[in-house]
Amino acid sequence: MRRIVIIGGVAGGMSAATRARRMNEQAEIVVLEKGGYISFANCGLPYHLAGRIESESELLLSTPEKVWSRFRIDARVGQEALSIDRAKKLIRVKRLSDATEYDLPYDKLILAPGASAIIPPMSNVDAANVMLLRTMEDMQQIRARLAGQQPRRITIVGGGFIGLEMAEAMVDRGLEVTVVEKNARVLPPIDPEMAKFVEDELAHHGVKVFANNGLKALVGSKDRVTHVELEDGTKLETDIVLLSIGVRPNTTLAKNAGLTIGGSGAIEVDAYQRTNDPDIYAVGDAAEVVHGVSGKRTRIPLAGPANRQGRLAGEHAASDTALAGQSVLGTAIVAVFDLAVAVTGLGEKMARENGFDVDTAYVLPNQHVAYYPGAEAMRIKLIYDKTTGKVLGGQIVGKSGVDKRIDVLATAINFGATLEQLASLDLAYAPQFGAAKDPLHMAAFVALNQMRGKSHGVTLDQVNGDQLLDVRTPDEFAAGTFSGAINIPLDDLRARVGELDRTRPTVVFCHAGQRGFVAERILSQSGFEQVKNLKGGYSMTN
Ligand SMILES: Cc1cc2nc3c(=O)[nH]c(=O)nc-3n(C[C@H](O)[C@H](O)[C@H](O)COP(=O)(O)OP(=O)(O)OC[C@H]3O[C@@H](n4cnc5c(N)ncnc54)[C@H](O)[C@@H]3O)c2cc1C
Repeated sequence: MRRIVIIGGVAGGMSAATRARRMNEQAEIVVLEKGGYISFANCGLPYHLAGRIESESELLLSTPEKVWSRFRIDARVGQEALSIDRAKKLIRVKRLSDATEYDLPYDKLILAPGASAIIPPMSNVDAANVMLLRTMEDMQQIRARLAGQQPRRITIVGGGFIGLEMAEAMVDRGLEVTVVEKNARVLPPIDPEMAKFVEDELAHHGVKVFANNGLKALVGSKDRVTHVELEDGTKLETDIVLLSIGVRPNTTLAKNAGLTIGGSGAIEVDAYQRTNDPDIYAVGDAAEVVHGVSGKRTRIPLAGPANRQGRLAGEHAASDTALAGQSVLGTAIVAVFDLAVAVTGLGEKMARENGFDVDTAYVLPNQHVAYYPGAEAMRIKLIYDKTTGKVLGGQIVGKSGVDKRIDVLATAINFGATLEQLASLDLAYAPQFGAAKDPLHMAAFVALNQMRGKSHGVTLDQVNGDQLLDVRTPDEFAAGTFSGAINIPLDDLRARVGELDRTRPTVVFCHAGQRGFVAERILSQSGFEQVKNLKGGYSMTN
């Protein structure tokens, strides 16, 4: 009989444990979890704090009693693994309730200890109103503070996925919310010009954002921080500080046991999640992944990869066989008030840094045909390699239908799709659901037009002294345009083309790029030598 021990009893750990049981009815399976709960829904924590998931118990997907009765898994909460003796195959365990210790032997060990919140080394970081959100216990502390102290203001340091989910949750709870972000824009996995729309949404809901501005000091006392001081000297009065500046993989156990830590700082594993010790696996936020586009080892701390890796490692540990794991794309989605914001694959900067011959395409189609009630625009940015035509990544900001498009895009990228293949995907269509030319098709068409020289897309920073032609309607033009732009609405362009200087390089633009492309085609076939279309149109700029 083999004993499989799993360290960490949440996403990756419990997936490993249950899969191991399904594969091996004889194995002894022990899960060590230092927290008070197993299988809790980390991803649901902000929504309980928002009041949308009413009962805390709904966040508990399982309990030690349930996993014992169904799976005969011995899940021990409040027990921390302190060290691993690889030679003797022993784990030193501490019962946190009475600080007693014991040795637990293993045949196969799966490390699923997750990641810890990064806590900046500064004074007052331990004050009672400086909070984190990683665990049930963290959530309970925030909830108690919200109920007991009736705070009015919260400052969220870190505008990543969890920071923004909490911003929305705290607005729901009636707090004044400020988000501080060190990067130029919130949501660093999203390219800055796309994240701008997220900041607009936050502002629309009263959330103040201080971007490009890091945390300098927590001002107050050891008991209570009263102000957050930013790098530029701004001081924000606050009742609660939530630190949400990222996570660091929990690798101490692995490091001390002599397991290899990869260049990303997480535990290096093979395609079966094995570390350099074939009897020890690592999964989830603590383990490295291979990025599906760059092929490089990296860290992608998300629930999907953790669950899949746990399942794989559990099977392998229980049966010595499993289907090898696949690379990861970092596909993610977050709701920010009324917006859905999603990403997959490489962002533009990362794609360049990885040596791809990068170009981008932007479109602003509706999620379904305009004539069917409820049509809403979504903005798509496609990142591709203009030499090979390979789709490298995509980002979508919109309302309904964003989830479906990002998953289709992730699927396409996963299978190595080119723009041509994306453009010819056979997707479902009826007026309620989409368009005969799906938003993803439109993005691929724009990219293919650029790649095939049918269109020359430029971004605003590439416009320099060109003749600017605004082909929107006079009303749109009057509502705001670029200085020096000439307005000739698209429908009048053929008749009025003589008003333009054919010898000057010309940049055409409309609201989102589509009318601009038609105008570009008219001009480039009317003797204009250098015509370019502003990517994403005027809507990208305001
Ligand atoms: C608030 C929040 C919202 C999130 N939302 C999303 C989302 O919407 N989508 C998404 O994809 N991802 C989301 N995530 C990330 C996702 O939850 C993680 O990527 C995932 O849980 C990682 O799984 P894991 O098993 O590696 O680690 P975890 O699920 O964190 O589990 C690790 C466990 O190991 C335990 N442990 C650590 N060291 C020891 C030790 N020495 N001994 C015993 N036990 C130990 C810890 O107590 C912890 O419970 C969210 C995370 C948080 C915190």
